[in-house]
Amino acid sequence: MSEVIYDFTGNPFVDAGIWAISQWVGKKPEELDKDDLRSIIDDVTFLYLSPKWSKNMYQIFPNNPITNNAVKDKKDRYSQILNELIEEVTPLGDNGNCISCGRRNILNRSTKDRVPLTGSKKVINYFSYGTDGADYCPACTFAIQLSPLLMYSCVKMLLIHSNSDSVMRYWSKKAKENIEKQFSSKNYTGCLNDGFKNPKNALFHIIQDIILSYDVRWYLEKPSITFYHFTNFSQGPALDIYHVPTPVFKFLAYIPQHEKFEEWLRIVRRGYMFVDWGKVKEENEYKNNPNTVYNNLLEGKSIIRFFIDKKNKESIGGWDLLSHYLEEVRNMDEKRIDAIKKVGNELADYIESMEDMKTLNRLEMASDYKSFRNILRIIIKKRISYGMEDPLFTFDDYVNYLFPEGNLTWRETQDLILFRIYEKLQPWILQQGNQDELKIQDPEEEIHEEE
Ligand SMILES: [Zn+2]
Repeated sequence: MSEVIYDFTGNPFVDAGIWAISQWVGKKPEELDKDDLRSIIDDVTFLYLSPKWSKNMYQIFPNNPITNNAVKDKKDRYSQILNELIEEVTPLGDNGNCISCGRRNILNRSTKDRVPLTGSKKVINYFSYGTDGADYCPACTFAIQLSPLLMYSCVKMLLIHSNSDSVMRYWSKKAKENIEKQFSSKNYTGCLNDGFKNPKNALFHIIQDIILSYDVRWYLEKPSITFYHFTNFSQGPALDIYHVPTPVFKFLAYIPQHEKFEEWLRIVRRGYMFVDWGKVKEENEYKNNPNTVYNNLLEGKSIIRFFIDKKNKESIGGWDLLSHYLEEVRNMDEKRIDAIKKVGNELADYIESMEDMKTLNRLEMASDYKSFRNILRIIIKKRISYGMEDPLFTFDDYVNYLFPEGNLTWRETQDLILFRIYEKLQPWILQQGNQDELKIQDPEEEIHEEE
């Protein structure tokens, strides 16, 4: 029979604990034995009893010996619990009734003092099926006791879970390095904490931190990453789950090598809401504000408009970075991206050579699909009358790539065309310097005349 104790379960608390143990003793998860488990008990008990860690523990394991004020000999009592669990650990079998590993049987049902977000013994009103706890085997229950080592404090606790070995290995390495610093400085500051209160901003910070800190070819990883923002606090347990789409991770992993990385940071900054940038002196003043770039990335919504500064006629990040975003995250057809780029180029040439700022202004002001199509039609006519031979676009381009879903995607096409025009013409446009004057005119007037 196999002597392997741990294999990953898909349960975020258990898997975090397995990664923690593995990182602490420097062995692969499948190599861990009971002596390894015993070897961390003293450190963990010591840490958890230090004031700042024990404060975290109220949110993770309320009413266990560490957080129960009635318990006097906390260290002995908690060590005893851990040791008893280890004694009960058996190697992974073929099956069992543990709801986490499914390969061992439970001995005692666990409640919230050992397994976050499970039952409270006789207080069963909020727990599904009214059971008084959850069925975890001793090995899984033990692993969960180590999961706080990988947790991130963000008012509530943030727990990262991924199917990617690299993501979890480097995250647990980061956590271990942080705790080693706490031991060497004798300054025990609790779970990882960078002063984030906004969990979405925190999780993007964590991802960027992992990507930038460790030299891994992250863009080759295809991780599924989920963040669990929870509290097991007795007076109001809560859980929010944030899933990071794999294409978003791949895009974030790609950006740091891109020459426009600094401009990406500007794009992210533009996503923060309610910030008076004139007054901001440091990151702490805005890092917890809601960020629409982050929120949209998590919710599968477009962030194209953050690449475009319409007020200053500026495209931020460049066409290459933007088109990478469109392909990777928006799943946009490469041919569509190229067709829009080509039309943007032609329009920029036309506007510059004819010194036709009015046309640019109309492209910017068009507020519905019909008006925008009309402006393009007028430009096509004007180009012909000026003897320009190449068509602005072909019928196929129009149907397949510029407005493939008509009314649904025209705004996206408009934004991308403007992005390209600004990218090519910004200095020239600023030289013209008469934007305000032009904006006063009603751009719709002539369009409707031509209907
Ligand atoms: Zn189990």
